[in-house]
Amino acid sequence: MTIENEASALAGVLADSVAGPVLLPDDSGFTEELASFQLGLRHQPDLVVGARDAADVRTVLRLAGEHGVPVTVHNTGHGMRFAANEGVVVTLRRMNGVLIDPVARTARVGGGATWNDVLAAAAPHGLVPPSGSLGCVGAVGYTLGGGISLLARSDGWASDLVRSFTVVTDEGEEREVGPRDAEWFAHLRGSGPMRGEVVTGMTVGLLSEGPLQGGGLTFDIGATGSKGDPAVLHAFQEWTADLPEELTSTLRVMSFPDLDYLPPMLRGRRIARVAVALRGSREEADRLVAPLRRVAPPIEDTLAPMPFAEYERVHAEPDNPGPYIGENLLVDALDTTALENLARLDGPTMVIVNIRHLGGALARPATVPDTVQGRDARYLVAAVAPVDPCVSVTHPAAAHDQANPGWALEPFGTAAVGVSPGFTVGPRGRS
Ligand SMILES: Cc1cc2nc3c(=O)[nH]c(=O)nc-3n(C[C@H](O)[C@H](O)[C@H](O)COP(=O)(O)OP(=O)(O)OC[C@H]3O[C@@H](n4cnc5c(N)ncnc54)[C@H](O)[C@@H]3O)c2cc1C
Repeated sequence: MTIENEASALAGVLADSVAGPVLLPDDSGFTEELASFQLGLRHQPDLVVGARDAADVRTVLRLAGEHGVPVTVHNTGHGMRFAANEGVVVTLRRMNGVLIDPVARTARVGGGATWNDVLAAAAPHGLVPPSGSLGCVGAVGYTLGGGISLLARSDGWASDLVRSFTVVTDEGEEREVGPRDAEWFAHLRGSGPMRGEVVTGMTVGLLSEGPLQGGGLTFDIGATGSKGDPAVLHAFQEWTADLPEELTSTLRVMSFPDLDYLPPMLRGRRIARVAVALRGSREEADRLVAPLRRVAPPIEDTLAPMPFAEYERVHAEPDNPGPYIGENLLVDALDTTALENLARLDGPTMVIVNIRHLGGALARPATVPDTVQGRDARYLVAAVAPVDPCVSVTHPAAAHDQANPGWALEPFGTAAVGVSPGFTVGPRGRS
C-alpha cells in the first residue's frame, strides 16, 4: 500500500480514537488547521490531526507507526524549515494549557502554548517567562533551540530553566525526560527531538518581573543605495565590549524603499535600530546608553520604563505572518570591515540583519549538560529575507537559492564559531 492509501486507512481509525479533529485534504477546515506564521512553506499532507491532549498525540504516533505513515509536528510555524507533502501532520495549538506553581516559581507548559499564553498565566503572580522578541512564538519550539530571551544576558538560555519535558516517543510511549536521562535531556535542550518524539509539555522556571527599562534607539545612517555611515555600528561594537549582564541589546540594520505608504522618516532611508532591555532603574539605563546617544541624535528614542506585558515593543518586530528565510552565524567578535559593509547593505537580495549581543549568563557553563550552540559566541548575526511564496511553496530549494540572505553574513564569517538552529528558518533544500 502507498503512504497515501495507508494515511486514508489511518484517518478512519483515528477518527474513532482521538478527541481532536481528523481532516483530509478535501475537508473544510483542513487548510485553516495548517495555518502558519511562515507563509513561504505550506504543509500538504495526506491527513492532519489537531491534537487536543497528550492522549491524542500518543494515539497518532502509535497508529501512524503501525501503518508506516510519517508524522510531522506543527505548532505556530515560526520555525518551519520544510513542508510535509505526505503522511500525517499533528498540530499542537490546542495543547496550550499553562499551570503556574507560584511557590516553586515554575510553569507547566503545554506543547502547543505560546509565550503569550505563559505570560498571561504567570503575570498575576508577579512572574514572567524567558520569552524572546515576540510572544506568539511557541514556548516549547523556542526552548528546544536554546531560546535567547529579552533579558538573555542576565537570565541565560531559556533551556537552562527547564526542569523536565514530557514526551511521547515515536512508538507512542509517554516519558518524563529530566536530568537523569542525561543524553536525551541534553539533546532536547539545544538540538530538539532525538528520534521524532513529540514534547507534550515542559516544566520551566519563571523569573521575577522586576523593574524593566526597554525600547529602541533608531538612527538614520544614510539614503538607501548610498554608502551608509557606519559610526553607529562601530559604536555598538565598542559599547557591547563592556556592558553589565543586566543589559541585553540587539542591533538591527535595514533599508527601506522610497514608497508612499512608509512613514516619512523611513522612506528611502537606511536605518540602524538598537533594541535595549535592562533589569534596573531608568537612571542606570540612561547612563548605560549615553555613549550611543552621543554618536548621533536618534530619529526615535523609545527607551523608558515599561511593564513586562509590553515587552514586544523592545524589538518592535512585525507580528503578522509572512514568507521569509533566515540564516545566521554565531561569532566571537564583530569584524570592523564587516560592519562597514553592513552599513552599505548592498547585495543581490533584500535583507534585514539583526546582531544580538550574547555573553553574560549565556556564556556560563551549563549546570546540567546540554547541546545549546552559542555559549562561546559573543554575538548572533542573523539575516532575514523575504521569499516569493509563489516559488517557495512549490520549489523551496529554488526559493532558497533566489532569496538566500547568506551573502550578508559572509563578511562576518572570519569570526564564526557556529550556527544557531533556532534562527535557521524558512524554505531549504528539502521539500
Ligand atoms: C519572528 C520570529 C522571532 C523570533 N524570536 C526569537 C527570539 O527572540 N529568541 C529565540 O531564541 N528564538 C526566536 N525565534 C526562533 C524561534 O524560537 C524558532 O523558530 C522556534 O523553532 C519556533 O518554534 P515554534 O513552535 O513557534 O514554531 P514551529 O515552526 O511550529 O516549530 C518549529 C520546530 O519545532 C518543532 N516543535 C515545535 N513544538 C514542538 C513540540 N512540542 N514537540 C516536538 N517538536 C516541536 C516543530 O516540529 C518544528 O520542527 C524567532 C523566530 C521568528 C520567526
